Amino acid sequence: MQMKYKSTRGKAKEVSAAQAIVKGIAEDGGLFVPERIPAISDSEFAAMINEGYRKRAERIFAIYLTDFTSEEIADCVNKAYSVEKFGSDNAAPLHKLSDSEYILELWHGPTCAFKDMALQILPHLLTKSMKKTGVDKQVVILVATSGDTGKAALEGFSDVEGTKIMVFFPNDGVSNIQRLQMVTQKGENVNVMSVFGNFDDAQNGVKQIFGNEEFAKKIAEKGYQLSSANSINWGRLLPQIVYYISAYCDMVKMGEITFGEKVNVCVPTGNFGNILAAWYAKSMGLPIAKLICASNENNVLTDFINTGVYDRNRGFKTTISPSMDILISSNLERLLYNLSDEKSVEKYMNELKETGKYEVSDKIKEEISTLFEAGYVDDAGTKAEIKRVWEKYCYLIDTHTAVACAVNNMLADGRKTIIASTANPFKFNGSVYEAISGSCGETDEFVILDKLSAMTKNEVPTSLSELKSKSPRFNDCCKKEEMEKMVAEFLA
Ligand SMILES: *Cc1c(COP(=O)(O)O)cnc(C)c1O
Repeated sequence: MQMKYKSTRGKAKEVSAAQAIVKGIAEDGGLFVPERIPAISDSEFAAMINEGYRKRAERIFAIYLTDFTSEEIADCVNKAYSVEKFGSDNAAPLHKLSDSEYILELWHGPTCAFKDMALQILPHLLTKSMKKTGVDKQVVILVATSGDTGKAALEGFSDVEGTKIMVFFPNDGVSNIQRLQMVTQKGENVNVMSVFGNFDDAQNGVKQIFGNEEFAKKIAEKGYQLSSANSINWGRLLPQIVYYISAYCDMVKMGEITFGEKVNVCVPTGNFGNILAAWYAKSMGLPIAKLICASNENNVLTDFINTGVYDRNRGFKTTISPSMDILISSNLERLLYNLSDEKSVEKYMNELKETGKYEVSDKIKEEISTLFEAGYVDDAGTKAEIKRVWEKYCYLIDTHTAVACAVNNMLADGRKTIIASTANPFKFNGSVYEAISGSCGETDEFVILDKLSAMTKNEVPTSLSELKSKSPRFNDCCKKEEMEKMVAEFLA
């Protein structure tokens, strides 16, 4: 049966998966959601237990991408989750920490963080979707980044046929390693440029380019069409459903649980994408008891899950888990839609826009409280957790993963829990080193990498250590008013 996609705000027409991926966001401002969430049959589960990551991914993709052939899906999956890209056949291996804590390592991709899980496959889904929907243009991806997403997008799109990508980052606002990761990016179709100013300047510049119809026409004549690799694209959410199902299958295969036994899933959350993927997996029949939503001090979601009131009117805090420093969790809209209807979603989203706040109905509150639990920790609690896990298990976790581990401890009910680990600890080396050694007193990240490695006998990932000796390919910095001109020159 064909799977169609609807808008969460109900005012756009239904589209195919390929169209949803090409469009990214619906015309009425809503997010695309599948019209139904199919259950995985027991026989399919049984088959998956003995399969590898890529085969499992092919099965899940086939359920949602009914306008793709199985050859096309296999091609996307094999290109994305290769041994070359993820270091082994299992792109998302499970590490048993204790009898109840299972760490799902989502950071074995090229940039050492979990966004690779989606951004390695999105370019292939996107180029195939463009062909299917009759778009014969080359796609041009524009990204404004405060660090990690830009690099993950560059790695994903690098040398993918039919695409070009340009990333802008704020001149003052990314770490030295983050900058080096981007400016040394390989690929014939990539361009990277810094912008004088902060992240908002870069982001506003990109938004202006997207909103400029004249510019779109001009580049269309040259055979180009702009697109974003935004975290609300269905093509980024779908790949994330796979690893929860895969992790459960691995637990059965390892003999840790029997098939059907319920586990908890705990996710360090920002945009609500990663934990929503776990909710989809649960809705497809994966035996999940509780979904545990872990936040840092930007704890909008903790309050929302515990009270039903979403209130972004609060100070923004800069924490040591920066990828979760978010006050508007865009993907929450998809959950609200599935727990209510498009009318309510529209009302809540309008309230959010106008007052920065909304309160959901009692019915939604009740459903949320049966599905989710939520908690948060501050930076001190995060560091203490890194130290505890290191000293107790000799296992190094990054700051984001530590937020999840700490919250899981606070809420633990004895059930076996899959804890999503979203970054390699060396990626956030300064805070991790400080957490286990007490103090850092060092600012050169390459020195910290070596110190952390020597202290823990863990190897620095090559993709980070090699940066020191690589020469930058992209050295230019532009003014924010010049960004459009820079894109035009890149496409000339
Ligand atoms: C993006 C990110 C998160 C948050 O994921 P969401 O899908 O936005 O909830 C957590 N940890 C790391 C390391 C990330 O890069």
